[in-house]
Amino acid sequence: MPYVYAFAEGSRDQKDLLGGKGANLAEMTRLGLPVPPGFTISTHACRAYRQFGQLPDGLMEEVGDHISRLERTMERRLGDADDPLLVSVRSGAKYSMPGMMETVLNIGLNDRSVRGLARTSNDERFAWDCYRRLVQMFGRTVLDVPADRFEQTIDAVKLRRDTTSDLDLTVEDLQHLVEAFTDTIQEHTGYSFPQDPADQLRLAVKAVFGSWDGERARLYRRQERIPDDLGTAVNVQAMVFGNLGTDSGTGVAFTRDPATGQPGVYGDYLPNAQGEDVVAGIRNTLPLSQLQEIDASAYRDLIQNMGVLERHYRDMCDIEFTVERGKLWMLQTRVGKRTPEAAFSIAVQLADEGLIDLDEALERVTGAQLARLMFPHFDPSELPHALSHGVGASPGAAVGRAVFDSKRAAVRAVSGEPVVLVRRETTPDDLGGMIAAQGVLTSRGGKTSHAAVVARGMGKPCVVGAESLNVDLSARRFTTPDGVVVSEGDLVSIDGSTGAVYSGDVPVVPSPVVRYFEGLVSPHEDLLVHAVDRLMVHADKRRRLGVKANADLAEDAARARRFGAEGIGLARTEHMFLGERKDYVVRLVLAKDEEERRTVLDELVPLQQEDFRGLLEAMNGLPVTIRLLDPPLHEFLPDFTDLSVRVALEDARGKTDTEHHQLLEAVRRMHEANPMMGLRGVRLGLVLPGLYGLQVRALAEAAAELLLAGGDPRPEIMVPLVATVTELERVRSEAEAVIAEVADARGVRLSIPIGTMIELPRAALTAGEIAQVADFFSFGTNDLTQTTWGFSRDDAEGAFFTTYLEAKIFAVSPFETIDEDGVGRLVSMAVQSAREARPEISLGVCGEHGGDPTSIHLFDRLGLDYVSCSPFRVPVARLEAGRAGIAVEGSDSR
Ligand code: PEP
Ligand code: MG
Repeated sequence: MPYVYAFAEGSRDQKDLLGGKGANLAEMTRLGLPVPPGFTISTHACRAYRQFGQLPDGLMEEVGDHISRLERTMERRLGDADDPLLVSVRSGAKYSMPGMMETVLNIGLNDRSVRGLARTSNDERFAWDCYRRLVQMFGRTVLDVPADRFEQTIDAVKLRRDTTSDLDLTVEDLQHLVEAFTDTIQEHTGYSFPQDPADQLRLAVKAVFGSWDGERARLYRRQERIPDDLGTAVNVQAMVFGNLGTDSGTGVAFTRDPATGQPGVYGDYLPNAQGEDVVAGIRNTLPLSQLQEIDASAYRDLIQNMGVLERHYRDMCDIEFTVERGKLWMLQTRVGKRTPEAAFSIAVQLADEGLIDLDEALERVTGAQLARLMFPHFDPSELPHALSHGVGASPGAAVGRAVFDSKRAAVRAVSGEPVVLVRRETTPDDLGGMIAAQGVLTSRGGKTSHAAVVARGMGKPCVVGAESLNVDLSARRFTTPDGVVVSEGDLVSIDGSTGAVYSGDVPVVPSPVVRYFEGLVSPHEDLLVHAVDRLMVHADKRRRLGVKANADLAEDAARARRFGAEGIGLARTEHMFLGERKDYVVRLVLAKDEEERRTVLDELVPLQQEDFRGLLEAMNGLPVTIRLLDPPLHEFLPDFTDLSVRVALEDARGKTDTEHHQLLEAVRRMHEANPMMGLRGVRLGLVLPGLYGLQVRALAEAAAELLLAGGDPRPEIMVPLVATVTELERVRSEAEAVIAEVADARGVRLSIPIGTMIELPRAALTAGEIAQVADFFSFGTNDLTQTTWGFSRDDAEGAFFTTYLEAKIFAVSPFETIDEDGVGRLVSMAVQSAREARPEISLGVCGEHGGDPTSIHLFDRLGLDYVSCSPFRVPVARLEAGRAGIAVEGSDSR
């Protein structure tokens, strides 16, 4: 298997082998687009390099063969003294990691070939500037000379020239810089800058491989969950020059707006510059449309190529290009990163344009993106005067304390303070600060600057190029033209959609997408809402899983219904015993005899009936699963310490047998070392006679009342924490008796399914037996995770999950995304045996995992009937259930 592939040999499907950049360069080459020729060293070679700590045998021979081919095609020799071929060496992993790895340009220049380049380009200054760049880049990235050693030298020369612009440096200045830089390299490394182009190439390839394991690349991968063992490919490509004068330049283009998704021409152009200058955001760029005036023919070619690419990839593409003396070259393309808003809009537009079908459109958006669209926006009626307007690079509202340095931003964020990272521009070294910040604000750069690209990737609000702000990093403040000063620690608000920057804490309002789910905005009123609506409707058509809500209050139930819930999958009745009603529980516990206990229970019935009626009304015609009381009894009793103090005070006053004394005795008796594994759930119901009976009675009464009033209540009873079928049998026979009694007394027919939660391993293992007496199962994956792993759900996450995550014992908390191999297997076994025992049994999930996208896909595969989650996650669950319903074939939509 070769290590090296010419562009003409590859295709876009080979991202694993050639990396994203290499695969797409190959694809563009095959499409006949003007790509400077070159070849890709595979990720396979990088993996071998990582394994053995050196370039694999035979690699450089293969590279040499491909260089010879390239030399024949270009009719020039690498580093030739008269007419040199120069190449770029660029990293390119399977997944884009913007700016996180190394690139070396102008390989092939040395003390002799620089003169050849000066002659052939007819531009001595250009040739020396290229050489200067090579020595500097090579010194920094390949030989690890600190970047500021070079910067200081440049600054000194500029100072002597009394200028701040690189463009004012003369040939002599640049020659001096090359000399000074090579001296710096010699001093720092003890080696001289390699004059042999083959050495330059070999060392550059090694440096790119090595940069895969650089600190910022590793941090980025952890953030983006990119596996560490993929390795990067290396692309070696003939150089074309955007810095050959005003008829040259370089730019970045998008086939649609990556922030909003709207069609049009988006991008940045920088005349007389090399590619890295645009992404680095160091010079402010021109909008791409101005290229039309600068060079109409290059612009026309570019627009045409963009159309070719979008139709070919059937998606929004981003493109890097260079114009060299009027000729357009395509340097890179890929399916472009986009904001959640753009993802929805573009998917629907492409479906409307017939490039993709609605299934594919649905596959191209995610529940996580939808969740982001549901975040609040700034309240338009409360907007103060903006301090500045930059470019809205990644939408969303962010409020936080301005911090001007990434390290401090990370520190403040860790202490729980929301921060907005403010920089002139960001570099890959700012990654830690960007991760920590609520939002990012820069005074320079365009939509394609580093800050913009990375923030969009993270889905984080970002405003770039707020040029009117004078950012003073050393004084840690920025100043507006009117003299307003915002210092570190001051509150700022940034709007990543409009680009506005405000001082202070601007109030927020619900997003239009939430207002749409609430029924307050129609799809015709808003383009984004239109896109969301189209895909939600389609998801509902495609999904097999039902989506219900976890809701305990009538108003939450009503909202969940507006959000598309098809019932309540879990009403936790605990809250109905809190607050003032705790007194009833106290009386129940202290009751001296059966009669006293009955009285308390009878008093509770109408209160519970009222609670249940609210839920049944809100979900009229849809199932409402009422879970009988679950938590340990002591949670409803007064705090042990408070009570002890009271009793001590009473003792001191000589009152030694008060109600508090009895209560303290009861609390002491009920104290448990492990309440989560103690007297809770069905155990409580069986130990405290009449408790579950009261709840069942209240539910049956509420249903009867609504039936008689012409309603369509659909109550269901769910028993928590069952471990053995016997527990369920006992509760079931008591409940059936109560229901029959109420039905009789009210003269109605009550059909109330009785089911159980499966939230203990024993329940999952004996699901076949339990199913004999259960009309439905709902997997309580919170407790099932707790009991399967033996992790206390209240303690483990805070105590040691960070260590576990860092040590890669698991990649994500099993309380967040279901542990497929362990808990998932228990669910799968239980599903199978339940269906065998009782084919018509209804099976759902109501743990937190019911709203988690990854887990939803597993539940779909396991053949569950529904998921139940909190009301705000209902739309996310509908969307993901829709996506799960479509057979996903090898889609790679990262
Ligand atoms: C569960 O355990 O998954 C569940 C839904 O119940 P609770 O979270 O109330 O224990
Ligand atoms: Mg539970």
